[in-house]
Amino acid sequence: MIRFEHVTKRYPDGTTAVDDLSFEVAEGESVTLVGPSGCGKTTTMKMVNRLVEPTSGRILVDGRDVATTDPVVLRRGIGYVIQQVGLFPHRTVLENTATVPRLLGTGRAAARARAAELLDLVGLDPRAFGDRYPDQLSGGQRQRVGVARALAADPPVLLMDEPFGAVDPVVRERLQTEFLKLQSQVRKTVLFVTHDLEEAVRLGDRMAVYGHGRIEQFDTPATVLGAP
Ligand code: ADP
Ligand code: ADP
Repeated sequence: MIRFEHVTKRYPDGTTAVDDLSFEVAEGESVTLVGPSGCGKTTTMKMVNRLVEPTSGRILVDGRDVATTDPVVLRRGIGYVIQQVGLFPHRTVLENTATVPRLLGTGRAAARARAAELLDLVGLDPRAFGDRYPDQLSGGQRQRVGVARALAADPPVLLMDEPFGAVDPVVRERLQTEFLKLQSQVRKTVLFVTHDLEEAVRLGDRMAVYGHGRIEQFDTPATVLGAP
């Protein structure tokens, strides 16, 4: 579903962020990208939805070359969740979640019904939280809305960049559990960036272990952990 072919990214200042990366993520597979800060995880992820252009090499999503796909069309098929999701502050939780269906032409009532479904899916009761504004939510709840919104267009691919990185350990553990439950229901193709080895082991069908600009291991958590 996602395929990197000899992808290198050199930033204008000369920094080589990733160097000759090749790997594949199967449809419905969750791959965690793990490694220390600055090793190229975020750069890898941002090249998938064209927020960053590779210097050389090719990336295919669902067989289509990312470099020649209209970014708007490309991103419709890719949900994106970052560490601190930006919600619209003057729209309620339900409205935030319904935004994408509305933009895609779904009528107001249907979009709100869909939004309520999505909030349920991420463990946020729409009756209790739908009418709240983002500043009336805890950090963990805001991240849940971010995930619900990313799922709104029913994208086959989900990119998650440290989505649970800014919440306390207890909430983080809960969000991980919900992610696993969600993934067992909706089966997206997931790239999940984290610097937390435990999280990478728990959430990845396979994990890409980064060294500086390179993937040093790409395998199941059991194999990675069992490796000498
Ligand atoms: P990670 O996500 O693993 O922390 P990044 O992909 O963010 O790593 O960064 C990889 C390397 O590229 C780092 O050395 C970082 O400083 C550099 N880098 C990231 N973004 C830019 C940029 N826009 N311009 C120049 N260098 C960058
Ligand atoms: P979560 O585990 O979902 O992150 P927390 O344990 O952080 O939730 O928050 C506990 C409760 O406090 C939640 O029901 C949340 O709605 C409420 N809460 C947290 N921050 C605020 C806030 N700024 N305004 C109103 N309620 C809040």
